[in-house]
Amino acid sequence: MSDYKLGTRCVQGGYTPGNGEPRQIPIVQSTTFRYATSEDMGKLFDLEADGYFYSRLQNPTNDMVAAKITELEGGTAGMLTSSGQAANFFALFNICECGDHIVASSSIYGGTFNLISVTMAKMGITSTFVSPDASEEELDAAFRPNTKAVFGETIANPALTVLDIEKFAKAAHAHGVPLIVDNTFPTPVNCRPFEWGADIVTHSTTKYMDGHGAALGGAIIDHGVFDWMAHAEKFPGLCTPDESYHGITYAEKFGKEGAFITKCTSQLMRDFGSMQSPQNAFILNLGLESLHVRMPKHVENAQAVAEFLYSHPKVAYVNYSGLPTDKYYEVAQKYLPNGGCGVVSFGLKGGREAASVFMRELKLGAIETHVADARTCCLNPATSTHRQMNDEQLKEAGVPAELIRISLGLEDKEDLIADIAHALDAI
Ligand SMILES: *Cc1c(COP(=O)(O)O)cnc(C)c1O
Repeated sequence: MSDYKLGTRCVQGGYTPGNGEPRQIPIVQSTTFRYATSEDMGKLFDLEADGYFYSRLQNPTNDMVAAKITELEGGTAGMLTSSGQAANFFALFNICECGDHIVASSSIYGGTFNLISVTMAKMGITSTFVSPDASEEELDAAFRPNTKAVFGETIANPALTVLDIEKFAKAAHAHGVPLIVDNTFPTPVNCRPFEWGADIVTHSTTKYMDGHGAALGGAIIDHGVFDWMAHAEKFPGLCTPDESYHGITYAEKFGKEGAFITKCTSQLMRDFGSMQSPQNAFILNLGLESLHVRMPKHVENAQAVAEFLYSHPKVAYVNYSGLPTDKYYEVAQKYLPNGGCGVVSFGLKGGREAASVFMRELKLGAIETHVADARTCCLNPATSTHRQMNDEQLKEAGVPAELIRISLGLEDKEDLIADIAHALDAI
């Protein structure tokens, strides 16, 4: 499939039926799998043979969908998880343990920020956050001898900053560690971070990949290029025998292409069990079949709305990397030549009250803690997700009181702009 163009991979990747087999991927709704002899099953447990034994670790439906996303990103191995949160936790915890350190962009999803700065800190994994705009010197200064990974988001949710992937990859590799990039917002349709030096890509498939607000999920994809053995002293989990798996050394047995995902499946999925249900994987695959058709439409709607907002007298500022006035326009031209995503954020001159009137008056855009859906939705963080903060704290967190995040869906842009114009008039 990897010889085909991206759209063809969206539609037909991950699964090619044999003669008389189902055209659509089958939902293997089974927790367990039957074997004729215990020797056969033993080989699976020893990772001596390929096959399924329990859906907490692996399921055929999930593997077909993971294979499609792997083909879209241009990786060598991939897996699904129950959510984007699980994907980011697994990707980091697969190489970091107690006593280790992570360098992360400060401009990332709030859930991931909490995961790294609070929950992983309780596991003894410390972190240093750097600005996505950090210079090479500033990035360099964030590393410590115990740093094991660098983390960032291609387009950050909700700040909409664009990561200079090459710069972050260069810094990570100079310190012998991989770059992990959460590519949720652009999806591989608009950016493939592996082409710019990223080593591991994660997704909240809950967003554009599903695209219909129907199924929670996540994915982890390995580029298969990072040489764990060249830095064996940093990554004992991959480069020394795993006593919980009969002394297998993942990087030796599965090589650069397979070690990361094999360890993540056989160790973390076994022990934490954050598996996506095969029903959700099936729904996710329906979304993937039209991802290359939907993304340009999300971008077209967002670009039109961003331009309309920018020229409106009641709007103070607009954040969208497709606007030539945006701080990230140049970086976006490099990494996102076909556009980024359908999410725009903006501030109203009338502040908090104006934001509240605007959102109340919208008819098509619903108030939701969600983005990247076929239906337009919006959120004022100050009165919802960040409502415990005062105006001063909100400003510091980069989500000023008047900020509205709007995720443009797949409706006709004329209707969306009319809806927004009406809500602005009501202020
Ligand atoms: C939503 C989101 C997540 C978390 O994903 P869930 O599927 O909600 O767990 C992680 N990263 C980004 C960029 C997101 O937008």
